Amino acid sequence: MSAERRLFFALSLPAKLQKQVIKWRAECFPQDTGRPVAAANLHITLAFLGEISELKAEALIRVAGRIQAQKFSMHLDDIGHWPGSGVVWIGAKRAPNALLQLASVLRSHAARNGCHQSALPFHPHVSLYRSATRPVAIPPATPQWLLEADAFSLYESTYERGRTRYRCLRTWPLADASAL
Ligand code: ATP
Ligand code: MG
Repeated sequence: MSAERRLFFALSLPAKLQKQVIKWRAECFPQDTGRPVAAANLHITLAFLGEISELKAEALIRVAGRIQAQKFSMHLDDIGHWPGSGVVWIGAKRAPNALLQLASVLRSHAARNGCHQSALPFHPHVSLYRSATRPVAIPPATPQWLLEADAFSLYESTYERGRTRYRCLRTWPLADASAL
């Protein structure tokens, strides 16, 4: 029997931005806010695939390699708390079109390959805390970081010894606008 793996497409945060975000988080949120997401795990999910077979993963890797999508930059200028899912996040007040298009194309390929996609609208965000179920005092603003996205990746999520880890399986470059 072939093993299934828990996979998702995402944008990573550069190491420098990861450090800036966790420093700011430690300064701005109380210690008991929830479960802080590890620096290396900060990301923006583009499409969640769930537990899938190697065959499906290979099919999605093939289609991902054929996607022609553009580089973009986005201001992380929004912040919020979803009490239902317990997520405290930062995101963009206006998501760039190139990001929405990339996520939409990945999600439709995922759906066509039998990966159930949420009916909720796509809201690109970086989760800062999980399991934040009590009211959270949200800082009035983020430091307005700029995220320059020049690639997207496929990740495997594993849970070992009480820790969620992501392993990058593949990365595809995004193209300069002039190249498309
Ligand atoms: P943990 O579940 O251990 O707290 P996690 O949520 O980061 O950590 P995963 O559940 O493997 O790890 O999720 C990987 C990524 O996919 C995360 O960005 C998560 O928010 C997203 N994700 C997980 N489940 C779904 C889902 N059903 N629909 C959409 N996105 C999802
Ligand atoms: Mg999860």
